[in-house]
Amino acid sequence: MNVDFHSHTTASDGALSPMDLLLRAKERGVDLMAITDHDTVDGYRSVCDRWQDSSLRLIAGVELSCLWSRRLIHVVGINIGIDNPELQAGLEFLQQARLERARLIGEKLARLGFEGGYAYAAQLAGKGQIGRPHFAKFLVEHGHVSSEAEAFKRYLGAGKIGDVKSSWPEMARVIQWITASGGVAVLAHPLHYKMTATKLRALLTDFKAQGGGAVEVVSGKQAKDRTQYLAQLAEQFELMASKGSDFHRPGMPWNELGQAGELPGNCQPIWALFQ
Ligand code: AMP
Ligand code: MN
Ligand code: MN
Ligand code: MN
Repeated sequence: MNVDFHSHTTASDGALSPMDLLLRAKERGVDLMAITDHDTVDGYRSVCDRWQDSSLRLIAGVELSCLWSRRLIHVVGINIGIDNPELQAGLEFLQQARLERARLIGEKLARLGFEGGYAYAAQLAGKGQIGRPHFAKFLVEHGHVSSEAEAFKRYLGAGKIGDVKSSWPEMARVIQWITASGGVAVLAHPLHYKMTATKLRALLTDFKAQGGGAVEVVSGKQAKDRTQYLAQLAEQFELMASKGSDFHRPGMPWNELGQAGELPGNCQPIWALFQ
């Protein structure tokens, strides 16, 4: 079965509308899919009733921003109850935090002489959740950097001036919001945090203790040894396994819908829960 449990739409920092995302996923042979926008279920909500094609089953999802040990961590929620009051209150909190952070990022960039970043990013995000990728586009469009990658490297990435993370909730809270709504909390792309093996084990220990249910063992196209390493960690910590492309836009072969590799045999796929 072709499962993709990590993807983005225009409701956050993705390029495709929710409907276009589903059509592209179907084209790529995805059978079971979750839209996991940053801190919102608006994209999923806008298509869940309109999507009637049984060859691609859609499951409710989200990707929540949080802090663990003062680092920015992403926790994906799969099979969440989108109308659960606790989750809804959590999403409102995160959306407010995003807005405040965006204003601060705008102020910090303005201090460097890059004026108008907030207005540009807010306009680009529209009704969707505003994020650093919108500021990256601002910096490129105004010629302050030559690529979005450079924008992150110089101004927006971890430890840079635009990396404002003070207002995110602690990981335990976002796990609680997901599980209270009936969803499974999945630690997203564990290798993106660039932690030492020791630190990653400490994160997994806390994640499990706080009610986390699974590890994203496969995130996009990744080297076999990384998949095996994460599968082994999931097994050791008795966590289930998930996989997803983390698709944001066409033209990124490493994050194409439905193209993430298979889970190794020692994994317990979370989709077994939903069949
Ligand atoms: P935010 O949700 O506003 O904290 O922004 C994080 C998002 O920025 C991630 O979900 C990615 O889509 C994107 N991102 C993170 N790092 C980079 C990078 N180095 N280059 C391009 N995009 C990135
Ligand atoms: Mn993103
Ligand atoms: Mn992420
Ligand atoms: Mn993502």
